[in-house]
Amino acid sequence: MANEVTNKKNDTTPARFSDLGLSEPILRALKDMQFETCSPIQEKSLPHSLRGHDVLGKAQTGTGKTAAFLLAVFEDLLAQDESVERYAGEARALVIAPTRELVMQIAQDARKIGKYTNLTVHTVVGGMDFSKQLNKLHSDHVDILVATPGRLLDFCERREVFLDQIEVLVIDEADRMLDMGFIPQIKRIVRLAPMKENRQTLLFSATFSEDVLRLAEQWMIEPSLIDIAPESVATDTVEQTVYLVSSAEKLPMLCNLMDEPDVGSVIVFANRRDQCRRLHAALERKGVKAGLLTGDVAQNVRVRTLNAFKSGKTRVLVATDVAGRGIHIDGISHVVNYTLPEEPEDYVHRIGRTGRAGNTGIALSFACEDDAFLLPAIEELLGEKLTCTQPPEHWLKSN
Ligand code: AMP
Repeated sequence: MANEVTNKKNDTTPARFSDLGLSEPILRALKDMQFETCSPIQEKSLPHSLRGHDVLGKAQTGTGKTAAFLLAVFEDLLAQDESVERYAGEARALVIAPTRELVMQIAQDARKIGKYTNLTVHTVVGGMDFSKQLNKLHSDHVDILVATPGRLLDFCERREVFLDQIEVLVIDEADRMLDMGFIPQIKRIVRLAPMKENRQTLLFSATFSEDVLRLAEQWMIEPSLIDIAPESVATDTVEQTVYLVSSAEKLPMLCNLMDEPDVGSVIVFANRRDQCRRLHAALERKGVKAGLLTGDVAQNVRVRTLNAFKSGKTRVLVATDVAGRGIHIDGISHVVNYTLPEEPEDYVHRIGRTGRAGNTGIALSFACEDDAFLLPAIEELLGEKLTCTQPPEHWLKSN
């Protein structure tokens, strides 16, 4: 389906924005932002997206993916005839993102990049005053619309926003939107946009799960596939141990671990939401104050949960991979892999939550009969063997 893209440049000098043929107002804005050279996702995706191709990008937050798709959006809109008559609420480019905070961040970046253009950036997000957003939206023409799925559909259904003239459709953090259960809404949004032959589609996701690839196949035409390697692990600052246990021993182990004197703030990762919910409940029953972060947790609850963890009100955060990604909190003493991740790259993301900002961290993995088979792929990615051992006897006591 997709065209695998290899990096043809064999030198290591990153491409400069001034060499990409970007228009003058955009280059001027990038200069103000002090963006001179491309990040890897920008360098690999822009040659395709700037030529109007669909791009399927595997990249997480922090890689510069926002500018990567925004530059393609701006250049596309700047190249089209502006004199065509426009109606209120008729957007030319749409960016869909899973959370309000991400939408705000994308819109802020878009306003900086578009500073010297006449193109407008509007946002539509849930949890904020509907009529205020509507007034703003109708006060000016809409070039780039950045939105969360639910509220966008509300606007479309009320016929306040129209997507039938969309030239570029960007779907950001597709895996997180899947995890949050947004796909039915996004499917309806995509149906309101022009057919895939008549628009450019850019889709970004931190992982390429089968579900993500299936959606890409439905929504895109021969996308260029850009895969950015995961952030490298500072394994020298994270001490990693794998405990070989039975699945029944995992819960008592986690509870006993919390009584160890050197265990401060802990993130516990499990693969599934139901596992996370059960763990969270078990910890709370034991009197350990814990937060729960899964993809279906509402945005305002997520913010509260993270704040409680940051301030030390809760000691433990139980999270799925997708929900836990992008948590940048210093001072996390331990990461526990309650279940080993199916994607080796997720192991790297998980343990990277500790050992930050010059501190050392500890990553403990509980491997049992159901998930120990995932270890070799993780070791291969890390390029090293992990220490596997039996847990201390007193960790196995149920209480
Ligand atoms: P993102 O992954 O899009 O959230 O971007 C991560 C951060 O990198 C943001 O603060 C951007 O402003 C910044 N950034 C993106 N591209 C570049 C670039 N080419 N040079 C310098 N900073 C960048």
